[in-house]
Amino acid sequence: MRLSEPRRPVAVLDYSKCHPEKCDKGICAAVDACPVKVIKQEAPYELPEIVQHMCVGYEYCVEACPLKAIRMM
Ligand code: SF4
Repeated sequence: MRLSEPRRPVAVLDYSKCHPEKCDKGICAAVDACPVKVIKQEAPYELPEIVQHMCVGYEYCVEACPLKAIRMM
């Protein structure tokens, strides 16, 4: 039997901590911080979404979010 590779951490958004209205002009700072563009925000002040299956774990989003709403899991 072959052991599966360990799953790498991906970015997870805690919606209880995410408040786009507190970010500059309602724009999610993590969207621009992600070089792979896996964080989507439809419009300013909308809640962003992370396309987790595309996340490669750079963690720039974690640093970019001023409210610490993103963590790696
Ligand atoms: S930067 Fe953080 S708090 Fe602001 S919208 Fe993005 S995830 Fe939410």
